[in-house]
Amino acid sequence: MLCGIMLLSVHNSDPAAAGTQRKVILFVWDGLRPDSVTPKTTPNLWGMSQGGVFFHKNHSTYPTFTMMNSASINTGDFPGKSGFYGNWVWLGPNTLQGKDFSNRPVHFSQPVFTEDWNILTSLNAYYSGHLFLVTRLLEAAQAKGLKTCIVGKSGAAFMFDLTRAGCGIDENMAFPEPLAAELQNNGYPLPENTPVMWPGIKLGANNGRPTASGAKSFLSDGVTLDPTAGTTSIFYSADLYMLDTYLNYILPNKDPDLSVIWFRDPDSTEHLYGPGSAACTDSLAGMDAMLGRMLTRLKALGIYDNTDIMVVSDHGHSSVAGDVSLFPLRDIRSGAAVTTGANPVGGYSVSGDVRLAQLLTDNGIAANVYDGSGCIKDPVMSGMLPQGARVYPTLTDTEGTVCGKGPGYQYNTRSFVVPAPPPEDAVVIAANGGSDYLYVANKNVNTVKGIVSFLQSREEFGAIFVDDSYGAVRGTFKMSTVNLEMTGRNPDIIVSYNYNENAAVQGMKGTEYESMLGNRGMHGSFSPVDVHNTLIASGPDFKSGFHDHVPSGNIDVAPTIAHLLSLNLPNTDGRVLYEAIKNSRTRVWVTLPRSVLTSGPVKGLTFYKPTAIMNANCMIDHGKSSYKTELVTSTVKDSTGKSVTYFDYAKALRQ
Ligand SMILES: [Zn+2]
Repeated sequence: MLCGIMLLSVHNSDPAAAGTQRKVILFVWDGLRPDSVTPKTTPNLWGMSQGGVFFHKNHSTYPTFTMMNSASINTGDFPGKSGFYGNWVWLGPNTLQGKDFSNRPVHFSQPVFTEDWNILTSLNAYYSGHLFLVTRLLEAAQAKGLKTCIVGKSGAAFMFDLTRAGCGIDENMAFPEPLAAELQNNGYPLPENTPVMWPGIKLGANNGRPTASGAKSFLSDGVTLDPTAGTTSIFYSADLYMLDTYLNYILPNKDPDLSVIWFRDPDSTEHLYGPGSAACTDSLAGMDAMLGRMLTRLKALGIYDNTDIMVVSDHGHSSVAGDVSLFPLRDIRSGAAVTTGANPVGGYSVSGDVRLAQLLTDNGIAANVYDGSGCIKDPVMSGMLPQGARVYPTLTDTEGTVCGKGPGYQYNTRSFVVPAPPPEDAVVIAANGGSDYLYVANKNVNTVKGIVSFLQSREEFGAIFVDDSYGAVRGTFKMSTVNLEMTGRNPDIIVSYNYNENAAVQGMKGTEYESMLGNRGMHGSFSPVDVHNTLIASGPDFKSGFHDHVPSGNIDVAPTIAHLLSLNLPNTDGRVLYEAIKNSRTRVWVTLPRSVLTSGPVKGLTFYKPTAIMNANCMIDHGKSSYKTELVTSTVKDSTGKSVTYFDYAKALRQ
């Protein structure tokens, strides 16, 4: 049913045609939840959202990871078209070696982390210069002769200018080389790893480490993050250094037409201490102060009135926690080895971390499962039951032979490093946080189906997506259903960890299980909390005081900027956000109601609670035996003939 219409007005054929070249700044606040934008904590951004355009129904691309969304924001496309998979990715059996941003060796036989210019450069070479199978936004700008600059978070910002055709500064380098030298000559310190990219650059004696972060706060076990002790962002000073280098040197001297600034707050602080923590509030205030600094500087340079600004987050953010009826929230005492009493409302999570490689191995689902990580010590977030027992008991490597970290090392899960070469039947997991990627080396369909059945039986896991080549697997969706299919690149199985969008920790709704990473905050799942991210726009081409209730997505950012700058970026999955642009004559419709796709039900299953590693009778969730998955989508059409479907959430239902 097509109902509802939206918006129309007078036409201006080319926003950038008249007079001076329009400028655009894309400012990414990593992991910014829309409900974190408030007059009190983020007054500058709140003002922009009320004075410009607030997109109330924006969508992150699933899996809701940073690099997947950097790719979508970068290209206007879903992964099935752009060809990019991150954050952690496995290339299959290979002997490729490379270096990371700090010049440490990297073996691509293990899953690799892509938030790194050096690894992205190696991957681009591996794909013969086609890490992206489509045109990037900055390529289109550069092809038109526009000047571009990227600033900020390692990997996520660099990916916009993968071939270094413009200028940039991130946490580990500055490019091109003459810019790095210029910055030094003008008294600016450089990111300390810059000589890895430019061996000819020597750091000055007083360079210091301007992009270093501060120390994390832990409980006395040394691994469980302590949100009562860590109360400020440890990333602010690095972000401020990069911002000021951009505002004070690059902006006036290089005059970029299109800038991408991507900072790791609030996301990195949310990962450490959880959404709603004191440190998160501090990180939001810091980001907002930097936005204020940017606006003041644009006005001082006389370019504010000619600059469109889009503020976007790559994804939302949830608290890491299992089912709180099984793992009650607890008080935390700073410096204590373990948490103290149950505190169901004001307490902190003591659960949510899952080591899938160990679950599959110990339950006999597959013999040779790896995830690239060694022993992990994670005694609290891997699950503390009401009486204090642990899902993953703490073990001692008496001889030092299990973990290789010396005799007496304590750990909760053993090593799952990929052997060289991996066995023919290897299953390799790229553990990504709110979703995991599973690669079945020999493509055995029975292995795939066995893993799927196991994931369906365990309540830590939610919706499952399977490579189309395996055909219909009951209770799952084909990867192409959510535009994730790219033969030769996509994993065989992608599983979202289970979530509860209504459960709250520290007053912020949204919890989820995660790969065993020790975080208090995570994203990457198909929860509406992770999917529903922030998009705000303001400037000469955007409407004023407009609350946009038309569904939109991160895939729409690149085509919209391309429209503002009159760039050639055709055939994107995303659309131009015409309804938010002044004087646009293009009409936009929302197709109602939202559509619900269902897979399953699969009947006669036994479900196990996530309270122990081994499936056992005492864990059976009695009274439930049917599993199905729901995928909810929203579709928008416009009068140019463009139709875009956004994915709102996918949920596993066990009944
Ligand atoms: Zn992110």
